[in-house]
Amino acid sequence: MHNDVPHSQRPNPYHVAVAQFEAAADRLHLDHGMRAILREPKRELIVHFPVRMDDKSLRMFTGYRVQHNINRGPAKGGIRYDANVTLDEVKALAMWMTWKCAVVDIPFGGGKGGVTVDPKPLSLGELERLTRRYATEISILIGPGSDIPAPDVNTTPQIMAWIMDTYSMHQGYSVPAVVTGKPLAIGGSEGRGDATATGVLECLKIASADLKMPLRGARVAIQGFGNAGAIAAELLAAEGARIVAIADRQGAAYDESGLDIDALTKHKQETGSVVGVAGSQKLEVAEMLEVPCDILIPAAVEGVLTGENAPRVQARVIVEAANGPTTPEADAVFAARDVLVIPDILANAAGVTVSYFEWVQDLQSFFWTPEEVGEKLSLVMARAYANVASLATKEECDMRTAAQMVAIRRVAEATQLRGIYP
Ligand code: NAD
Repeated sequence: MHNDVPHSQRPNPYHVAVAQFEAAADRLHLDHGMRAILREPKRELIVHFPVRMDDKSLRMFTGYRVQHNINRGPAKGGIRYDANVTLDEVKALAMWMTWKCAVVDIPFGGGKGGVTVDPKPLSLGELERLTRRYATEISILIGPGSDIPAPDVNTTPQIMAWIMDTYSMHQGYSVPAVVTGKPLAIGGSEGRGDATATGVLECLKIASADLKMPLRGARVAIQGFGNAGAIAAELLAAEGARIVAIADRQGAAYDESGLDIDALTKHKQETGSVVGVAGSQKLEVAEMLEVPCDILIPAAVEGVLTGENAPRVQARVIVEAANGPTTPEADAVFAARDVLVIPDILANAAGVTVSYFEWVQDLQSFFWTPEEVGEKLSLVMARAYANVASLATKEECDMRTAAQMVAIRRVAEATQLRGIYP
């Protein structure tokens, strides 16, 4: 039995992001000056702020907003509420957002935000006050033309609504385009809630055709049962795949004959976790990554697939719904073993793509049907996957390096064309 890797022992995500960047930059023969520009975030804001708790005490919180690169458009990226949020994590996530927006060729740069807080014990009122104050603290950066946040781990459409309202109150009029992932009633987009999982499925459909490995009957293990993981489970089950294992923070549920996703959702609503759902065996989170399966979907946090556990992973395909789940050491193991890794900046890019659609609709005050969103998303994902796969074949490299190369080339071109000010 292997225990989950404690957060403090996981690799520094920023070091991972920079190592991935250097590998792709080497292949692109990027010059020293361009490397120096793209390796560092453009802006890093750290804020410390008080929140009045329900018992009238004051608590201090620390939050971050990082803009990695904004040469192709405004910064775009989610906000994470988690006890383990650090500046280096936010910097890594911001850099990955730059590459992700460039891989799918939407006119955004990369940003990310976070607050170091476990939001679970907070009351709704405390969560609202924390959100409104954090939004105010980072309002020197965010705006519909400058930096547009979105949901990430532990942040929801309701939290996006509070951010939109706070920013709008400061302006004196409604500014829906300042944030995406909002509820439909205040300028959200059709298809945003299940976008990330839909994109994961689109990637898997292409990969399963390439590998001649039908999704019907394929065994799938998923780490994370939130926005990305739970909806991916539903969509894959609807395709006839067998979801054999699902983990959340508390542990994992395993059933080799296939978990019932509706029952799992109900069990999680009632107990707060997937662990212990009827008919399942309990596993540690780390054990769940190593169960016999065809497809593994990390959909939780960074740094969970490492050089240490990669040799024991049994999946043929890994689709990264999460950002940064695989270290460079694990990538090397998977490449040597011919395990296909569909990298985060491609596999989960549908989330930011529909966020882009939401921003466009907000700016035009003209809203699209679910069908229009679905069709446009499919086109973007299919084109991005084909670009990355063909470069991987041409370069004889893995999909991550190819995706990074596609992205870095686009960002470097924009940077080159704009020139260095003054
Ligand atoms: P979420 O808060 O909705 O769900 C997170 C899930 O992960 C929860 O089930 C939680 O219990 C589980 N989890 C957290 N820590 C864990 C751990 N150490 N071990 C096992 N499980 C753990 O978050 P989400 O929006 O689904 O995001 C999940 C991942 O997907 C993140 O890496 C995020 O950056 C990425 N992502 C999300 C979106 C999106 O649109 N929501 C888009 C792109 C990428």
